Amino acid sequence: MRRGPLDAIRSVEAFVVSIPRDVPYLGPLRPGEGVNARGYIVRKGNRTIYPSRDMSVLVKVTGESGMVGWGETYGIVAPRAVTEIIDDVLGPVVLGRDPADAATIHEDLYDLMRVRGFWGGYYVDALAGVDIALWDLYGKRAGLPLSALLGGRRHETIPAYVSGLPKATLQERCDLAVEWTRKGFRGIKFAAAMSDDGVAREMAALREAVGPGIDLMVDLHWKYGAAGAIRLIRRLEAHDLYFAEAPCAPEDLEGQARVAAAIGTPLALGEELRTVFEYRPRFEAHAMSIIQPEMGHTGVTEFHRIGAMAHAFHVDTIPHATIGCGIFMAASLQAASTLQRLPYHEYQHSIFDRNLALARGDMACAQGFYTVPTGAGIGVEPADSVFDHVVR
Ligand code: MG
Repeated sequence: MRRGPLDAIRSVEAFVVSIPRDVPYLGPLRPGEGVNARGYIVRKGNRTIYPSRDMSVLVKVTGESGMVGWGETYGIVAPRAVTEIIDDVLGPVVLGRDPADAATIHEDLYDLMRVRGFWGGYYVDALAGVDIALWDLYGKRAGLPLSALLGGRRHETIPAYVSGLPKATLQERCDLAVEWTRKGFRGIKFAAAMSDDGVAREMAALREAVGPGIDLMVDLHWKYGAAGAIRLIRRLEAHDLYFAEAPCAPEDLEGQARVAAAIGTPLALGEELRTVFEYRPRFEAHAMSIIQPEMGHTGVTEFHRIGAMAHAFHVDTIPHATIGCGIFMAASLQAASTLQRLPYHEYQHSIFDRNLALARGDMACAQGFYTVPTGAGIGVEPADSVFDHVVR
């Protein structure tokens, strides 16, 4: 029996959000680092550009019923590349479609630009924002949380690991790590790019500070060749390393696989990947034993498919969390809550805690655990105050 549409999409809108922050992402500026005329900082440690403000792109889809679904995607750098793709390409094609067909719409939108070589990057980021919004509206119309639409919620809470210790000195970073353990957090990740006194020394000092029983992770920010990464990670293993993240450049699939095979620590990667097509060769090469999908890049449809692929390869999922307003974070918690092999979800305290004031809903993170939102759809709505930060 062919049912009628649950709702039909009447409009798709995208907004650039820009929120000031006190301390730049990844910590205070280092010698030789400055904010350029466009408000960006190039970090020497990982050779990556970051905004001095927190920037994101919100997506609003409205159905014939007047009900609204919210999505969000990467707007960290050049956010108007994303809004232009939504306004000019994706939005008009979605009009009249039924949000209950969210996964089918995702496939149709993905196909639109294939022959021109756009199956990743900004194009798929834009698609992710629209996809989350469609799933949110679908859930709201159905009166069900996203987790139920994806097959069922397995976790009401998810362990959160503290990501990054944005302080200037090693002593301050050790003190901060101890502070987090006192708040009940059992996992802490440090950034090798910020370890001015040496990565091995930082690891040793952190282990000494927090003691045994705390999971310590390191983000290597794609900086090493395979041999150098293996040598470094083996030194860190002496201090009980929980996972090593992104040792080699994403293009160096063979290097990642070599490292994964040579170390006794789980290798984690995938925050920069967007689709099952980008993940599949890594699974086949056994290049990691933990994947870190980022909802802001994948959207709900691909996140769910990537999670199923990880399940088939006996690989754990520890989702990535980046700069945003809390909308794709809610979607990430919802989708992650359906996964069986989910040791942690990343926790960016300097972003998440502020976002709780920018988002309505019962999403939370305290005593080392996230609370997965319970409302329909993604379970979180942008608060009115977010729109004070929308820029034209
Ligand atoms: Mg990372």
